[in-house]
Order: sequence, then C-alpha cells, then structure tokens
Amino acid sequence: MKHNVFQKITAAVLSALMLLTAASCAGGNAGTNDTSEKEETQMTQETPQNALEGFESSAKLVLPHEAKGTVTYVIDDTHKEVAMIAEDLAEKYPSLKITFAIIVSFLVSVQKSGGNYAYNEDGTFSFKGSNLKYGYWDKLLKSYDGKRFSFDSHTYSHAPWGIDDTTDYGFPANTIQLETLGSKQAIKQFFGVEPLAMIEPGTGNKLNYRPYFLEQVKKHYYGMRTTNKDAKNTPDYFAANVNNRYNIGSFMIVDRTDGVPTPGLVDSWKSYIDSKLRIGGWACFCIHHIRHDGSGLANQQVIYESQADELFGYTESLGDDVWVALFDDAMKYYFEMSTADLKVENDGEKLTVKITDGEPDEVFDFPLWVNVQVPEEWTEAYADGEVLEIKEKNGRHYVLVEVAPDTDGVSVTGK
Ligand SMILES: [Zn+2]
Repeated sequence: MKHNVFQKITAAVLSALMLLTAASCAGGNAGTNDTSEKEETQMTQETPQNALEGFESSAKLVLPHEAKGTVTYVIDDTHKEVAMIAEDLAEKYPSLKITFAIIVSFLVSVQKSGGNYAYNEDGTFSFKGSNLKYGYWDKLLKSYDGKRFSFDSHTYSHAPWGIDDTTDYGFPANTIQLETLGSKQAIKQFFGVEPLAMIEPGTGNKLNYRPYFLEQVKKHYYGMRTTNKDAKNTPDYFAANVNNRYNIGSFMIVDRTDGVPTPGLVDSWKSYIDSKLRIGGWACFCIHHIRHDGSGLANQQVIYESQADELFGYTESLGDDVWVALFDDAMKYYFEMSTADLKVENDGEKLTVKITDGEPDEVFDFPLWVNVQVPEEWTEAYADGEVLEIKEKNGRHYVLVEVAPDTDGVSVTGK
C-alpha cells in the first residue's frame, strides 16, 4: 500500500513539474515521452518522501476561530423597549447576538382562560388565534434570518414562580405542562422557531415544586439556564454530569441606582467575561431591562443603555478571542464538545477528520472547529478543495477545519 501511494505522489509531483516546465518554455515543446521517462527515474530518487507517510497528526477540539471563550446575551421577560435598544446596539456592534427569553403570555394574545387554547388528550396544547401583541418581535426575528436574534422559552406566564403551584389557568394540574411544553409549542406556532432551552425565571429554584418543573423541562428541552453564577459552563462541566445541562449558570447584571450609572460596575461584568475566557468557558449574561439613561429606575432590574453599550463594545473589541453566540448555538456547541470523540485517519494521501458525539443528530448538527496538526513540509493545505491557512504555534503547524459530528468528516490534503 505504502509503495503505491508513494508512486502516486511521485507521479503527481512529476505532472506538476511537467506543467511548470511546459509553462516556462515559450515553444511549449518540452516534455516528450522520452524525456519524461528519464525525468521519472531521476525524480524518484530526488523527490522528498511523502510528508504524510508515518505522520501522526495530533488534533484537538477548539471553539470557533479558536476563541478563548464564549459570550451569550440573554434578555429575559420580553419588554419591547429593551428589544428596540438591543436592536440599535446590534446595528452598532456587528458581532452582537441576542437571545430573547420569551414569556409567551406577554407576546401572544392567548387568554389564560376562556378557550383560546386547549389541552389535548395526548398531552399537547392547541393554541387558537394568531394575534401577536407585537408584530415587532416577529420582524426582529426574521430581519436577520434568525442569526442575530433568537428566542428561547421563559415559560408561559412567569407568574407561578412568584405565586404557587396551584394557580389554575383553566386546566388544573396542567399548569406546569403549559409553562414548559405549552410555551415551547406556542413559540413554535407563533414565531416558527423551536426553542431548545428553557430560560428559568430567577425565583424558580426557590420553589417547592421545582423538582416537577425540572422533570418536565428535561422532557421537553435540551438544557436550562439558571441564575447560578458559579456554574463553570465548560465542556468538562457538562461532561461531568448530564444534569449540569439543566444548570447552565448565568450572571444577572443590574444597576439599582436612580439616574446615574454606578461607576466601575461595568468593569465587574467585563471581569466575568475575562474569567470565562481563561477556562474556555461560556459567559452567559442575564439581562432584564435596558433603559435609556434617566431617573426613576431605582431598585428595578435595569441596566443603563450606556452600560450595555460599554459591555457590548468591550465584547466586540475582543475580536476573535471571543465567540459571541445565540444561546441555543452555544448550548449545542458545548454539549457536542462534552461528548465528542475526535479521530484523524491518515491514509497516506489525506487526513480525514471525524467526530462522533452522543447527541441526537437532528438537533445537534453544529459543526465543531478542530485544530489539526499538518506536516511541517506543507506550504499549502486544503479541506475538501478549499484553501486553508496553515498556522504555526510553538513549532507545531496546523489548520482549522469545521466538522459536523456524525458525518463523513472533512478531508485535509496538502503539499
Ligand atoms: Zn424573568
């Protein structure tokens, strides 16, 4: 086998040389059969050994564009003013992406009782009436094709979290079903996106019936954001315990002053990003209100527009060091990484990079970036025909490729 490969490579090198020779001869009469046979004998002796022979490529999973960490901005509670400010800031900062945690009953004109929705025998819900309270949200979602703004569920009503588990919206004992499965179904029906994550309301973890809520969330969602700031949000963290997928920690940012932003507060938010960048982690921000600077904001869950501007500007300034992602994309990425098995096959002609993971393929199809070592001799590299930049760090030469898990992988060739 190796001998055949060697011959093929020799032939390829020879063809390339012949082309070069032909191109450099104005007459174009170089390279008759006679000379090429002589050259072949000569070239076989002089051609350097195929760089892939015996080469063992080390490879590792990395974050997109080798970012040091990830940032997501989730804005809870669906206030229109916040979305309008967020949209303005997203225009200003091209890297910015925002996930809105939708309280369905705030946005969709479905009554809490009175027959606008029905609980079906199979345990699902049917919602009637398609009136969006704010067509604005639909526009926002679609204006960037779902790539800059997206939605996750923040329950149906938010209300039971502050009250108790006996709240009856016309369907006794189905309240939690409506908050979990129902909110997901409604977002899909009214906005056309299927939320993969539950964004847990902040008071949720204090309630007696949380175990039942969590059980339902695990049935209907792939993960859940909590307000636990200590969760590390690294691939290792998610690999360590599958329950950690339902404890994606976040940092709730608030400035409770009235009219004047607290000096230095944004620095602590920047530090949170920096701390996650040091461990390949995911800085997950929880924002509620963003308001134009002004008074009357004391003791509300508000940050000032100038603070949001500074924070988003800082994120932008980090460039490729940070991956700014929609919440569901970050979740896919970290979960896939947490169960990924990476292999590089070398058949002497190409390196084939493959990933298998333990995730359901129909949802977890986000390509993972792989840092693949290539031979030092290579000056050119390609992935499925596309030119790759060869990078070098500490004498190790490598390329970056994007590989979707559980596919045929990506082939890297070079010379
Ligand atoms: Zn909330």
